[in-house]
Amino acid sequence: MEEKSKETIDLLVQAQKTYFRTGKTRSYEFRMKALNNLAKLIRNNEAKILYALKSDLNKSEAEAYTTEIGFLLEEIRHTQKHLKKWMEPKKVKTAKTHFGSKGYTISEPYGVSLIIAPWNYPFQLQLAPLIGAIAAGNTAILKPSELTPHTSKLINALIKEVYHPDYIAVVEGGVETTQVLLDQPLDYIFFTGSVPVGKVIMEAASKRLIPITLELGGKSPCIVDETADIKLAAKRIAFGKFTNAGQTCIAPDYLFLHKNIRKEFIETFKEVVKSFYGEQPLENEAYGKIVNDRHFNRLINYLSDGEILFGGRYNEANEKIEPTLMVPEDSSVSVMNDEIFGPIFPVMEYEDIEEVIEFVVDRSKPLALYLFTTTNEIEHKVINNISFGGGSINDTLMHIATPYLPFGGVGESGIGSYHGESSFVAFSHSKSVLNQTNKFDFSFRYPNAKNGLKMI
Ligand code: NAD
Repeated sequence: MEEKSKETIDLLVQAQKTYFRTGKTRSYEFRMKALNNLAKLIRNNEAKILYALKSDLNKSEAEAYTTEIGFLLEEIRHTQKHLKKWMEPKKVKTAKTHFGSKGYTISEPYGVSLIIAPWNYPFQLQLAPLIGAIAAGNTAILKPSELTPHTSKLINALIKEVYHPDYIAVVEGGVETTQVLLDQPLDYIFFTGSVPVGKVIMEAASKRLIPITLELGGKSPCIVDETADIKLAAKRIAFGKFTNAGQTCIAPDYLFLHKNIRKEFIETFKEVVKSFYGEQPLENEAYGKIVNDRHFNRLINYLSDGEILFGGRYNEANEKIEPTLMVPEDSSVSVMNDEIFGPIFPVMEYEDIEEVIEFVVDRSKPLALYLFTTTNEIEHKVINNISFGGGSINDTLMHIATPYLPFGGVGESGIGSYHGESSFVAFSHSKSVLNQTNKFDFSFRYPNAKNGLKMI
């Protein structure tokens, strides 16, 4: 891994500051060209990207294409289509007290942005925020995860091919390097990662009052009501839970089943999982691996937190764990308190939706929530009584895949949002301007006013 020294990082940030001040990054044409270059770079290097993701996470081509490459190309296409409109100054109404003046807001780039990425979708989560940074007219420093070294190295090599480092640069490395970066006079930080590290980022940013976006994690509940379409629910939940072997920030973390459909759902779910990954998922080439030993061992420990309903086997040699459904001993065990981030799925039963609402609101606000129901009343109750970042009704994960929905958490699951226009907004400061008329002046506001309303 090509790590950089503190001196190199100091110089890099200074060089980006100087470059930003030239104003070159601000024009519409410059931003569009930089986005074209990014799209071309991704398209021309698909094979290398797929290889890096296979090496780091055993991602299958189909999964890597939809969740990483295709996702980015669609995000770039959407951004280019709408960028001109997003960049326009927005007129606002004038208050009566401001008669004669005009008000507007303009979106201005912050300046030098830092984008820190995690390892689970290491290509997409590094470059999706970059689309926002470019669109909004910033320079950017990218810090990929050290836990996915093939992807980190590839991002470094690719970015160098098309952008001058004064505009966009990659700094590879782990905690120490990130801390050097966080000690720089940055103008904006976009962080995707865990809740504990999110707190470290926020603390560092607070020292210089640097604006931030935090895309964090947590435990995302999945609820299946007695009126749900069981077969569809089972397919869509298995898809959301076991894609990338459960290492997805918005994967359903734990499952709540209505007692009347519990048995039927579990049987159907088991069949669906078998049809997705076969009788021997540990030997299935298309089934993802756990990123490293530390996470593998952490996950294995959860298997003793309750009764295994199916799955539960694992292979240390290829770091794979079977899709597993289990009943936790009670809600105090680790699997019911840590973010699982793996293919282990604890399931609980409920009778009244109020019990579920109480359970969820007693805990940190989730990043995502999934509800399977065909009853409007249940849907409204859940949506209106539980605070969560975003979610889907009768599906999982899909809310992240449309550029029209802002994506982000709330409370412990994150601050701010992105995707589509929200990415442009996240990387911009909305500057308010009042343009006062010189045609007349209300003298009553001055300390020497005598007759109130007097024109100049
Ligand atoms: P992480 O927080 O351990 O690491 C994320 C980044 O922070 C990495 O680049 C890492 O090098 C850096 N880092 C780690 N420790 C640091 C420290 N002490 N100081 C400064 N930098 C540090 O997260 P991870 O394990 O890579 O990713 C998994 C987590 O990310 C999960 O909690 C998951 O839910 C979350 N996540 C969230 C989203 C989202 O969009 N909300 C997406 C993917 C993952």
